[in-house]
Amino acid sequence: MDAEVKTALRVNGKIAQLTRARKGHKCTDCGLLIEKGDEYYCIYQGGAGLGNIKFPDRCHQACLDNYLGG
Ligand SMILES: [Zn+2]
Repeated sequence: MDAEVKTALRVNGKIAQLTRARKGHKCTDCGLLIEKGDEYYCIYQGGAGLGNIKFPDRCHQACLDNYLGG
């Protein structure tokens, strides 16, 4: 069990889970790289069906407010 989940936020039917990147990801909000080893938010569409859990959005911690607000 090596999950590094620290916290999860529920906002507007979405679940944003703070996660440490095991590889690089692209930020859904700003489009820049989330670097390996950085903590980022993995966002699941809580109310939209289980299928979307396989394809979460990802964004930097600093981009979360913008992502949720946009
Ligand atoms: Zn970003």
